[in-house]
Amino acid sequence: MRPPAPVDPETLGRLAAVVGSENAITNPSEMQPYLNEPRERWVGKAAVVLRPKSVAEVSKILEIAHETRTHVVTQGGNTGLVGGQIPFESGNEVVLSLLRLNRIRQIDAIENTITVDAGATLKAVQDAAIGVNRLFPLSLGSEGSCTIGGNLATNAGGVGVLAYGTARALTLGLEVVLADGRLWNGLRGLRKDNTGYDLKDVFVGSEGTLGVITAAVLSLLPRPTDLATALVAVDRVESALEILHRAEAAGGGRVTALELLPRTGIDFILKHTSLRNPLAERSDWYLLIEISGFGEPGTLRPTLVNLLGEALEDQLIRDAVVASSEAQARELWEMREMLPLVQKAEGGSIKHDVSLPLPALQKFLDEASAAVQRLIPGARPVAFGHVGDGNIHFNISQPEGADKHAFLERWDEVSAAVFEIVLGLGGSISAEHGIGRLKRDLMPLIKSPVELALMKEIKRAFDPYNILNPGKLLPDEQ
Ligand code: FAD
Repeated sequence: MRPPAPVDPETLGRLAAVVGSENAITNPSEMQPYLNEPRERWVGKAAVVLRPKSVAEVSKILEIAHETRTHVVTQGGNTGLVGGQIPFESGNEVVLSLLRLNRIRQIDAIENTITVDAGATLKAVQDAAIGVNRLFPLSLGSEGSCTIGGNLATNAGGVGVLAYGTARALTLGLEVVLADGRLWNGLRGLRKDNTGYDLKDVFVGSEGTLGVITAAVLSLLPRPTDLATALVAVDRVESALEILHRAEAAGGGRVTALELLPRTGIDFILKHTSLRNPLAERSDWYLLIEISGFGEPGTLRPTLVNLLGEALEDQLIRDAVVASSEAQARELWEMREMLPLVQKAEGGSIKHDVSLPLPALQKFLDEASAAVQRLIPGARPVAFGHVGDGNIHFNISQPEGADKHAFLERWDEVSAAVFEIVLGLGGSISAEHGIGRLKRDLMPLIKSPVELALMKEIKRAFDPYNILNPGKLLPDEQ
């Protein structure tokens, strides 16, 4: 993609005047937090970082950008893992940070809805729901920093998808500023609204390329009163699926999480943290399972104990521990949450966020691990993730003692081998993180020419001058 022309001083002045000089950041050190992403793969440059406080300001900014053909990169919590929220290196784009638009606008425990500004953090929304004894079930490792706007723009997944669906499933209505500054108010809380094309679904997952989400109406759910959590050791990932079916059939509660942890990951945790493995048996794979329901607190634990006892008798699992307190359940979850961090302590890591049809999971893990070993002997796969919905974070840690830089240089080669296996098994090369910059050029591999052409036509209709996050998500210049 050709870099855009520099933003001229007059345009910069007009944009800065909308938000006030203290919220138009041009000082390089103050801009840094907006230009680096969590994995430090890309460091961008920007002409200015704008921090509007109101929807009217966002609208005015886009009106000016549309008129002057200024490129705008919308940013929420800057926790995205595919580089979509980071401007390119030209320095000729504008970053639009939504972090100051962070109000909880309205919460309705009768209708079970919450209306929030796009810059509210996911954690703030979860907490507001708890305040009226409801659950907002979207849950990600980044929830203290990521924003609702970013969650919807990436259609975020996380640990609750098995029971509650992705961000899309929890979205009832949106407010969006369009590329030319016009406002679309679709803040409806209706559960049924069959009135033609569903525009909110076009914006969900659009990664800042079609419009700027400024607010959303989200679904709230009843808050479970009882939870049971277990860590289970298994030889094969296939056992996870059988356990899932048995747990679903057991009644009394629903499976609200089924996470996979690999032996390598547990070894890294034991090496780099003070956590201990509560299971005596060492195993290739571990499952973290959570069931929740609405009965008397403590009634689901015996259900899970019985279920796992039978699985042990049937030799479906090797060992299991069911948490006997909230604190122990928290510790089990901590092991899962520590996985990305302990990988960092082991040097370079080449990461993949893929999904597979459930029956193909084990085959994928076997074939992809072998392929990686052929390419880089000694590389250590650390495959973990939301196995209940077929989502594996197939990360590969560098061989012990290897040169980190030389290992990471082979990212594309390793990914090509992994993606070939994923696609051959009918999976997706982006389960939940999106496309952004990281996977933009792979789109022709995964979308048919017809699908890609339709996507480009949608982009042209919503953003005729291609000013919204150009060069992200879609492969060619429009
Ligand atoms: P940003 O990173 O700021 O932006 C992401 C994309 O959305 C960009 O393309 C940006 O242009 C666009 N965007 C942001 N705000 C808006 C808006 N208001 N309107 C239009 N476009 C917008 N993701 C998962 O799905 N599941 C996980 O389990 C998960 N776990 C994570 C754990 C950690 C530790 C980290 C660092 C990340 C994790 N992520 C996960 C990725 C990330 O947190 C999600 O993609 C999140 O939804 C991004 O939200 P954000 O506010 O940080 O968006």
